[in-house]
Amino acid sequence: MSLRFRLTILYSALTGGILLIFGVLVYFLVNVLLVTQIDNGILQTYADLLKDWRVGASGSITPGIVTEPTLTTNMSYQVWDQNGRLNFSSPNLGAFSKPLDPIGYQSHTVIYHDSHPSLGHLRVLTVPLEAGMRPIGTLQVAANMDVVDLARRALLEIIAIMAAASMVFAAAASWFAIGKALSPLSTVTETALQISQADDLSQRIPNPGSKQDETGRFIDAFNETLERLEHIFASQQRFLADVSHELRTPLTIIKGNVDLMRRIKQLDDESLDTIEDEADRLTRLVGNLLLEAQAESGKLPLYFAPVELDTLLLEVFKEMRVLARDRVNIKLTEIDQILVNGDRDRLKQVLINLVSNAIKYTPKGGDVYLSLGKVGENARLIVRDTGQGIAAEDLPHIFERFYRAEKSRTRSKTGGFGLGLSIANWIIDHHGGRIEVKSAENKGSTFCIYLPLHKSAGSSTTD
Ligand code: ADP
Repeated sequence: MSLRFRLTILYSALTGGILLIFGVLVYFLVNVLLVTQIDNGILQTYADLLKDWRVGASGSITPGIVTEPTLTTNMSYQVWDQNGRLNFSSPNLGAFSKPLDPIGYQSHTVIYHDSHPSLGHLRVLTVPLEAGMRPIGTLQVAANMDVVDLARRALLEIIAIMAAASMVFAAAASWFAIGKALSPLSTVTETALQISQADDLSQRIPNPGSKQDETGRFIDAFNETLERLEHIFASQQRFLADVSHELRTPLTIIKGNVDLMRRIKQLDDESLDTIEDEADRLTRLVGNLLLEAQAESGKLPLYFAPVELDTLLLEVFKEMRVLARDRVNIKLTEIDQILVNGDRDRLKQVLINLVSNAIKYTPKGGDVYLSLGKVGENARLIVRDTGQGIAAEDLPHIFERFYRAEKSRTRSKTGGFGLGLSIANWIIDHHGGRIEVKSAENKGSTFCIYLPLHKSAGSSTTD
């Protein structure tokens, strides 16, 4: 059963139900009012009858005169003596000689009771008559209820017709309104089906006039999800293409060298060196990929502890100086004693990455400057080189994974995969810091890392 159908049934049932409850209440209220009105008339007649009543010597009773003119037609009365003889009856009863209400007559108490003699539906007041504590007979005053019954029936019919009509109307209106409100859902369903059938995440659901009601917001949210999925899907495909490309090249080289040695039937030192280099390259790639995957899924563990950044920088400086040998000059220009809260190994990895990039992209004889100082509440680490620099169009992308500037794409033994800066950025970001870069082509690049000082370290501005 469709949602539209279920909601329509619910709304029309609710409308019908409410109207029925309301109608029943009105019916009972009108009924009480009518019966009270009738009872008042009966009492009035009863009072007139007892005003001047007389009891004869034989026990016969003569009632008073009914003065209320309107009551003569639908009011009737009978006076019975103690011996069960009908003493007096109103003229409109003609020859009718049975009690107006036989049950009330038998009861010998004052009672209002409905009876249905051949005269129609009557409401009868029975009053036992007494003279000086002695029972002398019975008086019955009756009102004809035919008009009241007619009114009741008419009211019931009106209520039933109104309830039925409003149910039909509510059903029609809800069917139309719900259909209109739910129509964007059908569009969403159709689009979702088209997307899954055609594997095309570029489709969007039109939001006419950019509606901002619930369905409009739903469509916007759905479109945003599609956009995000498209982006994730595209970057996953790019990632796969990048990885397979990075894996294929060293594997091809290794296979080529193995084939060569097989052909010449001897171990060739140069080929073995190349194989070893490529195997190292593959190991580095796989290591970086693992880090990247862990970082992306939030599973790269960081062990925070107070870290003396100055000692760490000095350590990196010494290690990298050995690596750079006499290719580039690494200089330490400024070093403050600074304590930060962080993962020492990961911070060292970031520093090594920046310094090795500086060495890698600086021609022989160039300079790399390292410095560490405090700026406000932050430690500032600077790695500056006088190398090839980064083109303005590459600068916004260098922190994206697998991104390598055009100039750096030429493969070399030390050629990177474009993963180092993306991982470094993730690590610094998770330390509550940031990396900034300034660069000018052929002039050099400056990477600045800002890290919050350790809480106990205090702060002083040296900038
Ligand atoms: P890679 O392993 O390729 O060096 P990174 O993520 O560390 O990967 O760097 C991304 C790209 O940013 C590099 O390929 C290079 O083009 C550019 N880059 C990074 N550091 C420097 C630098 N000091 N000088 C010039 N270009 C740089």
